[in-house]
Amino acid sequence: MGEKETQRLTIIEAHEKLRKKEISSRELTEGIFDTISQQDKELFCYISVDRESALAAARAADERIGNGEEVGMLAGIPVAIKDNMLALGYTCTAGSKILENYAAPYDATVVRRLKEQGAVILGKTNLDEFAMGSSTENSAYGPTKNPHDTERVPGGSSGGSAAAVAAGECIYALGSDTGGSIRQPASFCGVVGLKPTYGAVSRYGLIAMASSLDQIGPFAKTVEDVEIIFDVIKGKDLLDSTSVELEAQNQKPKFQIKDIRIGVPKEYFIGGIDPAVEKLVRKAISDLEKEGAHIEEISLPHTKYALSVYYLIMPSEVSANLARYDGIKYGLSESEGNNLLDVYMKTRQKGLGDEVRRRVVLGTYVLSAGYYDAYYLQAQKVRTLIKNDFEKAFERVDVIITPTTSTTAFRLGEKTQDPLSMYLSDIFTVSAPIAGIPALSMPCGEVHGMPVGLQIMGKWFDEKTIFQVASFYENLKNNA
Ligand code: GLN
Repeated sequence: MGEKETQRLTIIEAHEKLRKKEISSRELTEGIFDTISQQDKELFCYISVDRESALAAARAADERIGNGEEVGMLAGIPVAIKDNMLALGYTCTAGSKILENYAAPYDATVVRRLKEQGAVILGKTNLDEFAMGSSTENSAYGPTKNPHDTERVPGGSSGGSAAAVAAGECIYALGSDTGGSIRQPASFCGVVGLKPTYGAVSRYGLIAMASSLDQIGPFAKTVEDVEIIFDVIKGKDLLDSTSVELEAQNQKPKFQIKDIRIGVPKEYFIGGIDPAVEKLVRKAISDLEKEGAHIEEISLPHTKYALSVYYLIMPSEVSANLARYDGIKYGLSESEGNNLLDVYMKTRQKGLGDEVRRRVVLGTYVLSAGYYDAYYLQAQKVRTLIKNDFEKAFERVDVIITPTTSTTAFRLGEKTQDPLSMYLSDIFTVSAPIAGIPALSMPCGEVHGMPVGLQIMGKWFDEKTIFQVASFYENLKNNA
């Protein structure tokens, strides 16, 4: 794949070039569209693109810059949006046949905030149907390929967004994370991805999967870029009552790595983890220790229940959230039914894929009378124990470092016949959304040419410390 300069630019670099008028937003946007037309037939990062409206936004940004206006960091910079967030002028498919022709009736709050900054929206990226999956193979429109090796998956469910950033088909992207859908694909594609604290970013206009876990977050090439995007999308939104204003970070004295205590949970380094992946993660931790960070082995004793808790709570919420796709209110409608119930059943049979239906059935079962106490209620109690584990750990450490995934990207088709092995690829990422804490994945090396991700988890609403540690490590690695 031939490299173009626009493919490699970070937000900061592109902003500088725009400001100095070394490049126009129009040229930047056209450069990215060239890359998309050269590569996306094979990679399939995008479900839809809109060149016209992107170029109109680019022109508007160029005009403001031309008038000498002081524009924000994201003005005129091309971005890709996961296709489960509403953006006016686009369909919003959520990777499902049932929403194939569903036109967004308004902008999601995150999209509105990006537009207010003058962002150039390129298009909507591919995902596992309704964000359920770890490879994008559950998309009704076909899988995205990993740009590092097109025989491998990009991860999921935000695989299109992660792959688009890695392949230079956008400068940055938004994804959503319910059990790992930002961090796992970031890890597989070698980019940086952040799942913010629950409530840090408005979910208004995000197609709900599991509402107590879902959170929108950024993908970019560097930690600094991710922080810039986060600063724009975060904060209280009257349209999402779970969103909160992030307190202005108490001005800590200058960041010093020797003031940082890093917890390494022993439960994340047992069984199943690829030794080459473990080696790279351990090296990252010891590199930080050599620079002065305090490393402490910690225990998160309820980690072993995290995946079970996730696969009880998530499907319960999925079954409730997806009840609205009944063939009457939205999208696809099989009007041939004999009566209303028949219309519901025929529409859902035709419009929803196997994995989505599997989870709806699982969720309804878990919530049914007689099983509710044994499964759902019990899972909620264990959820509290998992949260308590983190609370305790964060009394002693500032951040927790683990691998993001136990292996590098697997092959297309490798896990499609075995849902359980697919679910196991989320083993290190589900705990953060269960507890509601923020977590970031960043590259820490490669095994046989495939990227490995380092996960940094932080205290509730303390994204700042995650960014500081992550930036420190990024500099260290770049200067090594
Ligand atoms: N891969 C996980 C799942 O299939 C996570 C999905 C997500 O975070 N949206 O549920």
